[in-house]
Amino acid sequence: MEDFNAANEIQDLQYFGEFGGVNPSISDSSTYTFLSAKMMLDTFEGNGEGCYLYSRHSSPMNVHLAKALAKMEDTAAANVTSSGMGAITTVLLQLCKSGDHIISSRTIYGGTYALLKNFLPPFQIETTFLDIDDFEALENSIRPNTKILYCESVSNPLLRVADLRRLSTLCKKYKLKLIVDNTFSPLSISPIRLGADIVIHSLTKFINGSSDSLGGVYCASQEFIDETKNVNSGACMLLGPTMDSLRSASILKNLRTLHIRMKQHSYNALYLAERFEQDGLKVSYPGLVSHPNHELMKSIMHEAYGFGGLMTVDVETTERANDLMEMMQSENLGYLAVSLGFYKTLFSCSGRSTSSEIPEQERLTMGISDGLIRFSIGLDDDIERTYTKMRACMQKVGILK
Ligand SMILES: *Cc1c(COP(=O)(O)O)cnc(C)c1O
Repeated sequence: MEDFNAANEIQDLQYFGEFGGVNPSISDSSTYTFLSAKMMLDTFEGNGEGCYLYSRHSSPMNVHLAKALAKMEDTAAANVTSSGMGAITTVLLQLCKSGDHIISSRTIYGGTYALLKNFLPPFQIETTFLDIDDFEALENSIRPNTKILYCESVSNPLLRVADLRRLSTLCKKYKLKLIVDNTFSPLSISPIRLGADIVIHSLTKFINGSSDSLGGVYCASQEFIDETKNVNSGACMLLGPTMDSLRSASILKNLRTLHIRMKQHSYNALYLAERFEQDGLKVSYPGLVSHPNHELMKSIMHEAYGFGGLMTVDVETTERANDLMEMMQSENLGYLAVSLGFYKTLFSCSGRSTSSEIPEQERLTMGISDGLIRFSIGLDDDIERTYTKMRACMQKVGILK
């Protein structure tokens, strides 16, 4: 997987602002003037090459950010949205109409799960949830009306890795679109290179990395991006989850340090995962040899960026998890907060927060126990010091001796 370096792709883009600035000028307009009435008409009909019409359709700054993200994911085009869910809903509703069927991984982000499970069925869009590594079950559940196979490259919160090459072969055989949410593994996994058709990110997480903004993107062929922006039938144009241009300006600037941040997140997470596993805790991290998908991850990742910034520790009960998280927060080791990709470590009890949309029984069969703590490991400069302090917290609350 060394023939493609997503960080180089981003680095190689050159921007000039209106006055020769080293950053593109922020466009702060919802609407745009035309030099001729005919040009306006052409633009409405989709032939206004290089012209802007109205910012729900497109804006210069959004185009800059989308272009950088398309480079990163190696697609012809991309479109940015006001949140990750805005990207997911746009893609699914563009591709699926009443009567269509989706096959999805069981272990996905709680919001996506609730969308597929609760929100779409009244529109006659049904989803079958399966283990993404049970290829027999996947193949058996394909129906004539199945349109999409949906998964996360590294799943939330259990960090199971999808065998994207194999999934793509299956999708090609049955003419399904393989849609991959790559939020947990930007730069380290390139789903398009492994055969995915569309890649989605919540920019809110690692890509922006500052926990100051929501954002999303879907990266795909030019044709698909244009379809979603079509003034008569485009899901993004008509549902309106467009990103604000001021936000895309700030996310673009943060994107430039993503490669450095991912390396540090991964380095720190691996360090803690290895130590805590040695200490006898139930740790899950794709970088550990004990992780069921360790070899698979190695075979699909770009090694330089590591195994990512997320790990889980199962302390068995919610009570112990809460004690530990409160203690760690009071020792300034991170925040008891949902979300991920921040410079500080964030921790939350998945079953009681980001995966609480999933019914309890289902959660337990998935392996999301009541005491499962998800950590998004921060950019700490001295991770050994962090480890020592975290271990002291674990001893104080009786998780370690
Ligand atoms: C957060 C998240 C989303 C949703 O993104 P928002 O920006 O919060 O709308 C989707 N998928 C994954 C994997 C996420 O972590």
